[in-house]
Parts: sequence; C-alpha cells; structure tokens
Amino acid sequence: MGNLDETFLGLSLEEAKSRVVQLGGRAFHAGVIRREVFERGVLDYAAMTSLSKPLRERLAAELPLLSSQEIARSEAPDGTTKLLLRLADGETVETVHMPARPRGGEARRGATLCVSTQVGCPVRCPFCASGRSGLVRNLAAHEILEQYLHGRALGPLRRSVVMGIGEPLANQTQLIAAMRQVNRDLGLGARRVTVSTVGFPDRLRRLVDELGRHPPFQLAISLHSADDDQRARLVPAMAGVPVEDVLAAGDLWFDRTGREVTFEVCLLGGENDSIGHAERLAARLARRRATVNLIPYNPVPGDRFLRPEPDAVESFRATLEAGGVVATVRWSRGLDSDAACGQLRSRIHPV
Ligand code: SAH
Repeated sequence: MGNLDETFLGLSLEEAKSRVVQLGGRAFHAGVIRREVFERGVLDYAAMTSLSKPLRERLAAELPLLSSQEIARSEAPDGTTKLLLRLADGETVETVHMPARPRGGEARRGATLCVSTQVGCPVRCPFCASGRSGLVRNLAAHEILEQYLHGRALGPLRRSVVMGIGEPLANQTQLIAAMRQVNRDLGLGARRVTVSTVGFPDRLRRLVDELGRHPPFQLAISLHSADDDQRARLVPAMAGVPVEDVLAAGDLWFDRTGREVTFEVCLLGGENDSIGHAERLAARLARRRATVNLIPYNPVPGDRFLRPEPDAVESFRATLEAGGVVATVRWSRGLDSDAACGQLRSRIHPV
C-alpha cells in the first residue's frame, strides 16, 4: 500500500517508473502515461487503452493520477469559466479559463488560463479577496501544473497568466519547476506565460540569478503606486521597501533577460487614479523600457474601494503615454461570476 497522498503526477519520472513496476507494469509504461496526459489530455487511466486492463485497474486503485479534483464550476456570460479545485488535503484553489475574444468578427483560437500558486496569500492587499485570510500553504509544483490540465479540458490554451491566488515569488522553487514543465510538456512557451508578483527585490534578484538569460516566463510587477507611503498601504507585505528598489530589481530582470517588465496598477477610484499619480508614475518609468497595464478595480464585497470612472482611467492612460510610457487598460473578464482579478479566493463561496 503506497502513501495515501501519493499521486502519479506528484512523482518524478524515476519514482513513477518504480511505482508502476511495483503495480505490475513495465517501467516504460510511466512514460506512456505521461504522454497520454500531456499530449492527449487524458485524465483518467480507464481511457488509456494502450495499457492492459488489469494494470489500469491497479493504477486506479493504488496510485491516483491527479491530486486535485474539480468540485465546482461557474461560467460568466462572456464565456469565462472559473473552476474550484479541491486538493488532496481538502484545501481549495481557483483557476480561470478565458477563451479569446472574437476580434473583427472572427473567432480566435485558444484561451488564457489564470492559475494560482498558493492557498491564500501572505501579502494582504486591501483591495484583493485572495489574501483575506492570509496564507494557508504553498502549492506543490504538481498542484500548479494540474490546474493547466483541468483548464485545458475546457478548451485549448494559448496563453497563461500566473495571476490567480497567491504571491508566486513566495513559492519560488515550486513555481519554477511547474513553469518549466508548462513550457516543455504543455507547449506554452516562455513568451506565452506571464507571472505576476508584488516584486520583493531580494526574491526577484534571486529569481534572476537562478533563471539566467532564459526564464520560462515573462514578468509582471504589481506596482499600484509610485509613492512609497501609498504603496506601503496598498501592498502591506512590502511596507518599508522603497518603490525605487522594486524598480531596480525589475531593471535587473530586463538587463539579464532582455525581456520587458509589465507593471500593473490596480486603479482605485479617488485613491490612486489622479493625474498627479499618473505623472509621478510616468516620471519613474519613462527612462525604462516597460509597459503599464491598468486594471480598473473589480469590486470585492466588504471593501471600502471604488471602481474608477472610465474618464479617469482614460486620462490616467493618456497621461502615462504623454509621459513616454506605453499603457494599456485591462477591463477584467468574468466580473459576473467573481472570476475577475482580485476576486478569487481559496474557499468555497456562493457564486
Ligand atoms: N499576487 C500577484 C497576482 C495577483 S492578480 C500580484 O499581486 O501580482 C493580478 C493583478 O490583479 C495584480 O496586479 C493585483 O494587484 C490585481 N488585483 C487584485 N485585486 C484586484 C481587484 N479587486 N481589482 C482589480 N485588480 C486587482
């Protein structure tokens, strides 16, 4: 009898080979199973007909394929689907599948998947639902990876954003292992995957050192404000870290990888959305090759924040552009089903 928490995808290939042999198969069957999962999207041993029936039955009884299971699904009218996944220990995380929007009347292929890296979040941004109860635990690499398998079952993936629940740089080792596998086994190359972080400078420098010139993903840093005191309020876990230090760590990423950093600003009505805020941000970013992504605040029940006026969003964007900074606005998808940025949580809640 194996360890109760043991799953096929949680094992290395070598470990999987020896478990499969113990269960009456041959070592190469472990590779067959991985190909069934990654190349054909089969998530059930019963459908792996190149394995003998007795082996499939023993595997199903002794070594579950996945550690996570879809327990709820909600779909917004715009086609965005949010999955609630239950992990082996009963904790839950959310994953969001966003099909490409038709452009110019033509349907485009592939979806963007938004994945989580932790159960809960230690950063506690006051405008985000994900950190309400603090951090529960890190996800293991295979728990991050499995979100892609569940998401891909809803339709082919073209991109991924690691912008679900959790602070990715607080779980670096598992993040990197999962992202390498996403590149290699799921065909989502580094340019199609974006990891979003609040940008702890020391962790970011460590990341740059570890990943070198070819990181498996693009980097986005949630900045929210160019002003030290305001950023400390909006990103509490980074109080005391000057904005300039965060930007310097971003510069290091750019210098080392040659890839531009995207800076995200959650625009909060009457809080950080004035022309002055935009001017100060432009002053800090103008000499850097970077893009700003403005995310108008999505309401989180119980928050004191307001959605910004569309005019204020447009003026903010225009002010950045006038200051020499490329800026885009991301009006979130999935708002109707609490699947938008900032609305994901690690617990079951009514949809
Ligand atoms: N923890 C990571 C990923 C968060 S989600 C990070 O902080 O970067 C991606 C973006 O959505 C972040 O920039 C985050 O600040 C933003 N966000 C969080 N809550 C939001 C909300 N209620 N409305 C709009 N954007 C929000």
